[in-house]
Amino acid sequence: MKAVVIQSPRQVQVAEMPRPQPAAGEILIDVAACGVCGTDVHIFKGEYLGDYPVIPGHEFAGEVVDVGAGVGGFQVGDRVAVEPNLSCGGCRFCGIGENNFCENWQAIGVTRPGAMAEYVAAPASAAFDIGDLPFEAAAFMEPLSCVLHGMQKLDVRYGETVLILGAGPIGLLLGQVARACGAARVVMADRIASRLELARELAANDAVDTGGGFGPAAERAPGGYDAVVDATGVPAVIEQTIQLARPGGRVLWFGVAPDDAVARIKPFDVFRKGLAVHSSYTSLRNSVQALDLLRSGRVRVDRLVTHRLPLERFEEAIALLADPEGAMKVQLVPGGHG
Ligand SMILES: [Zn+2]
Ligand SMILES: [Zn+2]
Repeated sequence: MKAVVIQSPRQVQVAEMPRPQPAAGEILIDVAACGVCGTDVHIFKGEYLGDYPVIPGHEFAGEVVDVGAGVGGFQVGDRVAVEPNLSCGGCRFCGIGENNFCENWQAIGVTRPGAMAEYVAAPASAAFDIGDLPFEAAAFMEPLSCVLHGMQKLDVRYGETVLILGAGPIGLLLGQVARACGAARVVMADRIASRLELARELAANDAVDTGGGFGPAAERAPGGYDAVVDATGVPAVIEQTIQLARPGGRVLWFGVAPDDAVARIKPFDVFRKGLAVHSSYTSLRNSVQALDLLRSGRVRVDRLVTHRLPLERFEEAIALLADPEGAMKVQLVPGGHG
């Protein structure tokens, strides 16, 4: 089979390699769509945990083409998406139901071979039947699961006014989920006109250009927002979340900042407003919810995919993601599924 192989940071090739054999308890999947995300960019650049060489790709869906010994729940021909974060079930964190902090964590596309390949093997216990959901949509199960985990912490209530800073693919998922939670108003902010337009179409009652500062976003909710979400990971934007929340409000830092980034927060402001500041790390049993939201159309992802590229164009996909004017979600589509 063909696979994208990152040999070492910034050294990538599309290689011919043997098709994996599903081990006991595993299924073999013919990959139909695999999203390219920030984590893949970090692995490509050598900024993330992970052993090299590695086949990246953790946001994927495809068709079961083989099953290993002892697999009962799936058969050849089933259409599936996979939760890539694999926990051991036996450590202290798994024991308290916080599997996302598993001490023996593994992830498809990070510590074991991923889905930027024609075939990928995955534990059947991590796979979910997608029914007739299109593969391109089902490949959003993982990023949407992460969004749902964060939004559960933010706990948006009926009738609230929610601000989402950043209208990239993740911001647009966050905005749609905020609306599904019953927010009366979802305001989305970005500096790119095309993203603001899409925000209005998919999620936002109001979309604000923050190219000239955060004043216009603040004016939309003079007393402050009930809930504010950063979906950028940019320190200067993260700093604003504290200013834009109302007294007694909640903040979610969802965007991933570079690991050496530093933000300036006044603890007194957090105290005076009595803010709850949340973060969110991967997801925790949110796959079923994510698939149901995608199936119901409450969360729409069809407009988020701007590029569908063959495996050979992985490096072009990485370059596209560096330009927010040019791309939203880029998916790799292995041979035969274009
Ligand atoms: Zn991802
Ligand atoms: Zn564990």
